[in-house]
Amino acid sequence: PGAGDIPPEALREQYEHLQDEVRRHRTAYYQNDAPEVSDAEYDALYRRLEDLEALHPEIVSNDSPTQEVGGEVSTAFAPVTHLARMYSLDDLFSIEELRAWYEKTSASIEAIAPGAAEKGIRWLVEVKIDGLAVNLLYREGKLVRAATRGDGTTGEDVTHNVMTIRDIPQQLAGSGWPDEMEVRGEIFMPSADFRAFNEQRVEQGLDPFANPRNSAAGSLRQKDPAETAKRPLSMFVHGIGAHTGLQAESQHETYQLLAEWGLPTSPYTRIVDSLEGAGGKDGKHGDGGILQFIEDNGAQRHGLVHEIDGIVVKVDSFALQRALGHTSRVPRWSAAYKYPPEEVHTRLLDIRVNV
Ligand code: NAD
Repeated sequence: PGAGDIPPEALREQYEHLQDEVRRHRTAYYQNDAPEVSDAEYDALYRRLEDLEALHPEIVSNDSPTQEVGGEVSTAFAPVTHLARMYSLDDLFSIEELRAWYEKTSASIEAIAPGAAEKGIRWLVEVKIDGLAVNLLYREGKLVRAATRGDGTTGEDVTHNVMTIRDIPQQLAGSGWPDEMEVRGEIFMPSADFRAFNEQRVEQGLDPFANPRNSAAGSLRQKDPAETAKRPLSMFVHGIGAHTGLQAESQHETYQLLAEWGLPTSPYTRIVDSLEGAGGKDGKHGDGGILQFIEDNGAQRHGLVHEIDGIVVKVDSFALQRALGHTSRVPRWSAAYKYPPEEVHTRLLDIRVNV
């Protein structure tokens, strides 16, 4: 029998069990930086929860993991309330899902701004860095606070730890920065450093980290900043939060400004004009489109500075981003395409073999 035929009590039981499982894995992942299952297994579990809710909308509870941004906040750190909320991203697990999202989003844009599609919508494609999000608060050009994403509203205060990361300026360069500005980025451990770091841990008889993401998160969330200082951490910016008058109309202009002020921006980001990349009506943006970007980065997936687990598509225009808005968990103007899972543990095994 299909899930639709389950008696109400069994359905509730199944629903609560799935919720508990997702919550348990989230705690292991976000609070302890020690996942018990692979991301692909977690994603499959999460998808089952989403599917069950889609099939039985009447049972959806407000505190379901599908209604909230996933990170829990550890009491080991002081809580920080973000000035503007931080969001997660909707995951797309196949090209068909990506196509459906692209068409739905284009149609919404056309409804908001008739003629927009005809003129050409600008999309930003970025690699999805396998790290953890931070929110950097700059006042008068000075870094005054840094926090993890947490549940999107409240994160963990990691200011002293972030101050040890060389890529992140404590004083912005140039001029013209807003009086107050939240910069969002991804902290990561570069792949080469991650391998060396893990080998060192194994030599010292310590457990290796499962992946660069957990390694970055574990390194950033140290009680002692001197310990974080020893870890090879980097960052690329991928967004902006609250600000007092940033002079930019789009995401890519914002990246240009942030780069001028000394913040590290990703060298992999591209602007494309469509999914298929026909080259645009005027032929000016001869790019391979979103699909080509996915293919290119998939082929060199482990050849980038950092590990990636997918690519992120964003509507570039801030006016359109505002008009599309957010759900309680994710923006409607952006989504993440996830590459199919690879063999897990091969990298760790390689290390063990090499030792
Ligand atoms: P997500 O990682 O799928 O997407 C949102 C995050 O992507 C953002 O918060 C940001 O930090 C990051 N990101 C990286 N590059 C970006 C870019 N260029 N632009 C914008 N954002 C970018 O969502 P999530 O809610 O953070 O967590 C879900 C992820 O965590 C999934 O990959 C899931 O598999 C994994 N997870 C695994 C377990 C486990 O037990 N293995 C448990 C919980 C979560």
